[in-house]
Amino acid sequence: MSNKVHLGHTARKRFGQNFLTDSNVINRIVGAISPDNDHVMVEIGPGLAALTEPVAESIDKLTVVELDKDLVERLQTHPFLKDKLEIHQGDALKFDFMQLVEEGKQMKVFGNLPYNISTPLMFHLFEFAEHIENMHFMLQKEVVLRLSAAPGTKAYGRLTVMAQYFCQVMPVLEVPPGCFTPPPKVDSAVIRLVPYKEKPYPCKDVDLLRHLCTTAFNMRRKTLRNNLKQLLSDDDFGALGIDASMRPEQITVQQYVAMANHLADKRQA
Ligand code: SAM
Repeated sequence: MSNKVHLGHTARKRFGQNFLTDSNVINRIVGAISPDNDHVMVEIGPGLAALTEPVAESIDKLTVVELDKDLVERLQTHPFLKDKLEIHQGDALKFDFMQLVEEGKQMKVFGNLPYNISTPLMFHLFEFAEHIENMHFMLQKEVVLRLSAAPGTKAYGRLTVMAQYFCQVMPVLEVPPGCFTPPPKVDSAVIRLVPYKEKPYPCKDVDLLRHLCTTAFNMRRKTLRNNLKQLLSDDDFGALGIDASMRPEQITVQQYVAMANHLADKRQA
């Protein structure tokens, strides 16, 4: 059966369109999102409304950001949704989420994300983290494993450190390809990201942390000393109490932040 016949819409590859069709999975995701009127509810990429409909059912208003004009048109004329939705047609990567902030309300953001934009979109959303209560995203399972990895494991990397710097990260459920139309080539999983109200390890300069992580993980098999030799000396590692002969994946988020703060202080001095 073609996607068109099945869904009444031809899934567009370039927009990463894999529509959720498994009602059990949909119910579990909606349960995890736990929609309510006390938060500004925001969905990225509502598509054919698999999550939009059940979420909107229990609340008064839902804001959605969708890139595909045809899908936006469908939502605008949807018999039950059209009165509840605030629709923004455009690229979520360029969307200014500040415009959705309402006095006294935090946002709950969710979406079954196109896999090609999921990482940059999360980083874009981290910029608005102080206004976000939580986020639930369907991602490639491999990305969920990286986001939630512990130090010392293969999946632990730059993405892990940056995500866990901003958020508490919890995998919610795994979703096989058969739950989508068309089925994606890889396994998927849902993640919950809860931005810290008070960061456990505050960083003086997040750009520096990002730069440090990118440099540290550039060559995973080499030591910290080797990868970071342009940035930190043996004396610096000594002052930080960090063993420079360790590999980048053995270093905790707290230690990365300590290194970034040390660098920031050195640059200021
Ligand atoms: N939420 C629907 C579901 O679960 O069935 C659709 C999910 S589909 C994986 C991704 C959706 O994001 C599509 O509707 C696609 O058109 C939309 N999309 C793709 N790129 C986007 C972008 N940059 N900004 C906003 N929406 C985008």
